[in-house]
Amino acid sequence: MTKTYSILQANPNSYFQQYREIILKKIEEVLDSGCYINGEQVKLFEKQFAQYCNVAHAVGVANGTDAIELTLRALNIGPGDLVFTVSHTAVATVAAIERTGALPVLVDITQNTYTMCPVSLAETLSAAYKGKYPGKPAAIIPVHLYGECADMDEILHVAGQLPVIEDCAQAHGAKYNNKNAGSMGIAGTFSFYPTKNLGTLGDGGCIVTSNTLLAEQIKILREYGWKQRYISNSPGINSRLDELHASILNIFLPMLNKSNEIRRKIAKIYYTELQKLKSVQLPLEKPNRTHVYHLYVIQLDNRDMLKIFLSNRGITTGIHYPQPVHKQPAYINRLPLSPHGLPETDKVFPKILSLPLYPGLSENDILYITSTIQKYFDSSTWNN
Ligand SMILES: *Cc1c(COP(=O)(O)O)cnc(C)c1O
Repeated sequence: MTKTYSILQANPNSYFQQYREIILKKIEEVLDSGCYINGEQVKLFEKQFAQYCNVAHAVGVANGTDAIELTLRALNIGPGDLVFTVSHTAVATVAAIERTGALPVLVDITQNTYTMCPVSLAETLSAAYKGKYPGKPAAIIPVHLYGECADMDEILHVAGQLPVIEDCAQAHGAKYNNKNAGSMGIAGTFSFYPTKNLGTLGDGGCIVTSNTLLAEQIKILREYGWKQRYISNSPGINSRLDELHASILNIFLPMLNKSNEIRRKIAKIYYTELQKLKSVQLPLEKPNRTHVYHLYVIQLDNRDMLKIFLSNRGITTGIHYPQPVHKQPAYINRLPLSPHGLPETDKVFPKILSLPLYPGLSENDILYITSTIQKYFDSSTWNN
């Protein structure tokens, strides 16, 4: 008898089902409490997530995009300012910068880690200081993509006095020289979208920082610019984390280290089973870093052929992302790039493929995936 496989690339539902009873009970409790916004659940989550990240403050907001926008705005960054980030990221990183009125300037990545290249950053900054782009350098946003921290020592060094905001939306619990993602720059921004390493069952986000003034300013901006109720001190927005989602995050946060461990175990099996394939480049885990494998991204030629081969055998894969931001219709030919362009970014995006990875993926499923990949290469001519 053959089993029919249907394996998703990510599966937040399996996590919900695992904790269904606890979650439903908690939701009932919150609904019965009568407090739905700015209550005990949000306060508790902010306290515990700040502790988890080893920073003084966490400020809950509506999503990870707002987290970036509010941090920039709280730093008084807006029209006339340049914010440096990568093109190889979720479009949200760049969209958030544009929302402030600042101009995103796109920097290249390093080929093997997919994160901001400190050399490209240095070249771009130096061109900016010479007046190449219309605006003045104001901030840098490296993205800890796929679950591994960017080269933070080098980036902080190149940044000098400029504030560095870590986009940690894919790196909850990741470490760099034993420092937590989000604790190295002036602030770290998180998304709690359902598929993230720490996700709620809806939208959510947060900013972590040890800068008390910055945390206070973000709290003001997230709620209409109110310093006191009904009196706006500065023009703010509405971007709140609500009690229901905070209560779900309070259930999942104590399990984050364990579920990251499970992700790392799955990555280890992938590595063991796939390392013999010469034409596949596996993720590189740099020393001094704890990769939390938000995604397991491999690189190969003819990526789409393997994607289809796997899909025909019940295995869903993802592409993160099919086009870098500077190639997408909304941004093409509109955003300034590093002086030498983005050669590594351009090289990598047609080759990347995200294999299924989520806590709850069974060892049998993983071995089915790796043996199917093996079968693909055995049967194809482009394997050398
Ligand atoms: C998910 C994500 C975001 C945006 O988070 P939302 O909660 O969807 O707004 C930002 N940056 C990166 C790198 C992400 O992966």
